[in-house]
Amino acid sequence: MAVAEIIVDVPTMQTNRPFEYLIPDSLAEVVVPGMRVEVPFGRGKRKIQGFVMQVKATSDFQGKLKPISRVIDLKPVLSDEMLQLSYWLADRTYSFQISCLQTMLPSVMRAKYKQYVIPLDKEDTEVQTLLDGKETLEITNQLDDATIRLINKLRQNNKIDIQYVVENQALQIKRQAVTTSLNVIQLHEAKSKLRANAKSQIKLLDFLAHHLEELPVELNVLQKEFGISRSAIKTAEKNQLLQITEVTKLRKPVGIDPEKTTKLKLTEEQQVAVSEIGDAIQSETPQTFLVEGVTGSGKTEVYLQTIEKALQQNKTALMLVPEISLTPQMVNRVVGRFGNQVAVLHSGLSSGERYDEWTRIENHDVKVVVGARSAVFAPLNKIGLIIIDEEHEASYKQDDNPRYNARDVALWRAQMNHCPVVLGSATPSLESRARAEKGVYRLIRMKKRINNQNLPHVQIVDMRDAENSATKGDFSPALKESLQTTLQRHEQAIVLLNRRGYSSFMMCRECGFVLKCPNCDVSLTYHKDLGKMKCHYCGHEEPVPKYCPNCKSKKIGFYGTGTQNIEQQLNTLFPEARVLRMDVDTTRRKGSHAKILQKFGQHQADILLGTQMIAKGLDFPDVTLVGVINADTTLSLADFRASERTFQLLTQVSGRAGRADKTGHVVIQTFNPDHYAIKDAAEQDYETFFKQEMYIRHQSNYTPYYFTTLISVANKDEGQTLKQSYWLKKQLETSLSKDAILLGPSPTMISRKQNKYYYQIIVKYKHEPQLHQKLLEILNETQADAKKGFTIAIDNEPQHID
Ligand code: ADP
Ligand code: ZN
Ligand code: ZN
Repeated sequence: MAVAEIIVDVPTMQTNRPFEYLIPDSLAEVVVPGMRVEVPFGRGKRKIQGFVMQVKATSDFQGKLKPISRVIDLKPVLSDEMLQLSYWLADRTYSFQISCLQTMLPSVMRAKYKQYVIPLDKEDTEVQTLLDGKETLEITNQLDDATIRLINKLRQNNKIDIQYVVENQALQIKRQAVTTSLNVIQLHEAKSKLRANAKSQIKLLDFLAHHLEELPVELNVLQKEFGISRSAIKTAEKNQLLQITEVTKLRKPVGIDPEKTTKLKLTEEQQVAVSEIGDAIQSETPQTFLVEGVTGSGKTEVYLQTIEKALQQNKTALMLVPEISLTPQMVNRVVGRFGNQVAVLHSGLSSGERYDEWTRIENHDVKVVVGARSAVFAPLNKIGLIIIDEEHEASYKQDDNPRYNARDVALWRAQMNHCPVVLGSATPSLESRARAEKGVYRLIRMKKRINNQNLPHVQIVDMRDAENSATKGDFSPALKESLQTTLQRHEQAIVLLNRRGYSSFMMCRECGFVLKCPNCDVSLTYHKDLGKMKCHYCGHEEPVPKYCPNCKSKKIGFYGTGTQNIEQQLNTLFPEARVLRMDVDTTRRKGSHAKILQKFGQHQADILLGTQMIAKGLDFPDVTLVGVINADTTLSLADFRASERTFQLLTQVSGRAGRADKTGHVVIQTFNPDHYAIKDAAEQDYETFFKQEMYIRHQSNYTPYYFTTLISVANKDEGQTLKQSYWLKKQLETSLSKDAILLGPSPTMISRKQNKYYYQIIVKYKHEPQLHQKLLEILNETQADAKKGFTIAIDNEPQHID
């Protein structure tokens, strides 16, 4: 009997390796790598899930192997590439391989779901036998091995397909669709024979003529998206102009036309980028390019035309963008160019829709994938190009286990697929830019804006000046004046409130008491619209107090500059201006983010006010003014990337002004007008900033001169947390050389979250061959303690230190 190596779903250090199981003869041929199976585990009768990693003829194991109980999937859900990736990913992120494997799958496959057989060839006798007159067959663990084998054989011969359906969603395998046996000329002939007032028939025939390649189109899509009535379809069917058929699946409507876009004539700088990257695609060189292009230099067009080159080579392309810039605007630019060959993976999709997109990719119906972080695991094969837009974004790093950075995964996949990677940004991360400096990445600079449009004029307003500090609100006279002018010209403005997230808090003006979360060491945020005080860490909420819980005084006030507060100030200053607010509160509902942007894009508002989320990738031609209320917030973070984050934010948001033919103006209010991060951002001068910041990183021994690993310890008991932290530090000290730097243990900025205390240790090092092994040992040892409430987290190259 053949043997399978299986990673079991028991997330502990001790089980973090493949286990061997026998493949029963009845399941020979059926069990292949990438499939999930059920196996007995441990001494009892417990059955658990596992991933088949490898199948081999014999085992070296001396004892008796247990057999696989049953197969869960009837087709592999992960490719060999993904299985390989899981080894590397688990090692790099100090996480369990099982978590890595799970992370690569769409959530439907992790949740409760059912599997169905979908017939593809209904005439086949074996298919008919299998289905026994029914439309579908649910795959349950009641099926015998012979049936499983038959299903497997039919699937491999493309006679059936397997579909996963979330348990609470209906299976939609049959849909009515419209197709036609006529060709374009015949359709036009038929049209010419119609009476001129047969408007709906004409419309229908026009539609068919223009969408011949996309047929069959689902009936309801035809009705909903293209406004063609059911009666018109019936009439045409009667006259044999079309046929109604049935299509299997999909939830995704076919044949939607976003506005088609055509290739733009490239500028000289774009041309250089496209041809260099194109060469690497053609020669299958896994070279990484860093495209450092100022805002508005046309990086997106470079992405699109290089994707096209990959498709011409009969390859696929993967494009990652930060979730927040996955706007309809962005998506339309890609879908507009490549149409139905594009799959978009974003958080707005339901898990069913996400699964459908995943299936389309797996079935090779899709050539281009656009998505946020987790799209880096898209089951594309023959990847010819990977693009990471806004490569400096911290959101490419996952905050939870497995703490992977999509940028690193992309580089790994590029090696496997022999394809180039394009990292694009106006403000590259120091790490990437430094690698380009060393020649590890190929640097391509795009210094000019399209049409040689000037970079916006930036005015720095020193808030320490008397005239600014004397004003009551948050708007300096300079910013007020600029807003006034912009409104008078009927142009649009963006106002950025650089917020830390929990700035609107309640304080007693009598005794100074601040209302805090009972579970976390943070003040509660005041939500005016909900009439509630909320904790942004654990979700705790309580009514707004009427008097101080400490001294019973009624003199309680709300402090901090929340967006709601700024919105009120704007309303008072400019009563006639239409203000749109975009922050965590107004974008909580699905699609609301896109709706606000669409409204603003259609000039239904004059001012877009928002937090960091408005800084990215927006391209509105009527925006001529950008105001930044408080540039300093990010500067004061206790993170070594504080300056870098501030520079990036200010440069990005300034880039939103004056993108079409109008010149932009930017007003930055700050208490640190001489800080290089602010001055360089005002000049949009990345290179000067890079040099200065590199110098400072060198002085303070940080990235990219040193590698960083952050280890945090959490426990419900503060004393225990500290004890454990010091034990950990000692452990590390024994295995590190003198060159490594150990910081801490120190409490994190918010030292208590959800009733747990957090302490952290930072290791900075250049070359510590022992460290990796030591950390694995520590993980192993602390595992036993996990039951006592300890948790230990290792973050390789953290994006946030707080
Ligand atoms: P970036 O991503 O570098 O900030 P974009 O790709 O958004 O810049 O381009 C800015 C604007 O310039 C967009 O409206 C885009 O359509 C336009 N554009 C880009 N390339 C060209 C070109 N070669 N010719 C004309 N317009 C272009
Ligand atoms: Zn009080
Ligand atoms: Zn809380």
